[in-house]
Amino acid sequence: MSEPDASSLPSDEEVRADARAWFDANWDPERPLTEWRDLLVDSGWACPGWPADRYGRGLPPDLARAATEELRSAGAVGAAVGVGMALAAPTLLEHASPALQRVLLRGIATGRDTWCQLFSEPSNGSDLAGLTTHARRDGDEWIVTGQKVWTTGAHHAAYGMLLVRTDPDVPKHQGISYFAFPMRQDGVVVRPLRQMNGRASFNEVFLDEARVPHANLVGGLHGGWAVARTTLAHERGLAAGLFGSLPPASGGRTCQEAAAEAAEYLKTYEWYPQRAGRPDLVAPVARRLGRFGDAVLCQEIAALHTQQRAAQITAQRAVEARRAGRPGPEGSLGKLHGSNIARAAAAAHSHVAGAHGMLSGPESLEGGIVAEVLVSVPGQSIAGGTDEIQHDIIGERVLGLPKEPSVDADIPFRQVRTNRRDAR
Ligand SMILES: Cc1cc2nc3c(=O)[nH]c(=O)nc-3n(C[C@H](O)[C@H](O)[C@H](O)COP(=O)(O)OP(=O)(O)OC[C@H]3O[C@@H](n4cnc5c(N)ncnc54)[C@H](O)[C@@H]3O)c2cc1C
Repeated sequence: MSEPDASSLPSDEEVRADARAWFDANWDPERPLTEWRDLLVDSGWACPGWPADRYGRGLPPDLARAATEELRSAGAVGAAVGVGMALAAPTLLEHASPALQRVLLRGIATGRDTWCQLFSEPSNGSDLAGLTTHARRDGDEWIVTGQKVWTTGAHHAAYGMLLVRTDPDVPKHQGISYFAFPMRQDGVVVRPLRQMNGRASFNEVFLDEARVPHANLVGGLHGGWAVARTTLAHERGLAAGLFGSLPPASGGRTCQEAAAEAAEYLKTYEWYPQRAGRPDLVAPVARRLGRFGDAVLCQEIAALHTQQRAAQITAQRAVEARRAGRPGPEGSLGKLHGSNIARAAAAAHSHVAGAHGMLSGPESLEGGIVAEVLVSVPGQSIAGGTDEIQHDIIGERVLGLPKEPSVDADIPFRQVRTNRRDAR
């Protein structure tokens, strides 16, 4: 997105006054949610930072934030929450053609179209650029064949952020394209994967001659790697809790419908607090079980609390960096902090709970939450890039250390040795 011309920008007070006037005139808490979201998104006040001809008002981050504060003061429902708003929209805004943005952004902001991220494959998670799902051109369309895995929310997604190989004759990073991929079509089979905590929030996705219009290409043919990096930078920011603003909990029909919509969407993510270790529960449970007399345990809890405060401050810096439009290293640091805290919290929970920690189900400690923490925490240091990969990123991009040695980055992908042959 290009920077707005500062000389033509309204002042903070003018933006607030315009937004207030619009909400005074239009916010009706009894309006059906779909009708309200259409009105709000078309007015540009749902996403005031988006371009004016693409459902926004072209405001820079600080003024867009002021407008959103006015939305909250009015008690109004904002744009939909989810991966579409958090990952797809900022990626499209940076890399897609204005025409494609106009087609897709409206469904994201209104919540009509939910999204998933079709990146990881059975043999390619950390080595994402080694992906083998491939596409060949057929007139105005591309035909896609391959398999994705760990695809969170694919079971309800209308679109996927899809990475595919479109040229196997160049080095691996240079032959990848990024598509806004329609999920609901023949040739796409979504199968849930059961996790060890009993949930099934992610899926395997089989793509068998599935089709995507050429017009849905994001970032130019074979230019998908740069686009993927944008999505990943925003994903690391999710560790700082940037999933979107939840609708007001109480109010009229619009709020209730928005809260129900968000609750339904967020069911997929219900276990994420447990994945993060629930450090908030360690001290209360220790107090309730009478464990505060144990000096070693108290030290462990204090260390956990200190780690958590430091991470909250880093997360706040990540929020500020994103608001300023420059997602940066804070996201990777925050994500790594999140893994360390989750592991430390799980260890502390085990020490507090003792053998009780092995019991699961609603009648176990904290209604089963402690047991769910212990089997969910491993996911924290894998999702969105593993700890080892975060270390690489911080080493190379933040500290300027030499790049990791690579044996396959400079040769044509067709010559790379792998146990999957289907991209060739
Ligand atoms: C809760 C959850 C949700 C997810 N949601 C999605 C989703 O919606 N969409 C999606 O596309 N993916 C999703 N993923 C997948 C996730 O991005 C991958 O699991 C992750 O990138 C790791 O890839 P992998 O599982 O193939 O592990 P591998 O890459 O096989 O890694 C195995 C081990 O080797 C280590 N390793 C690998 N390469 C290196 C290296 N170069 N240096 C040092 N160590 C290395 C790793 O750190 C790890 O410990 C999700 C995962 C989880 C846990």
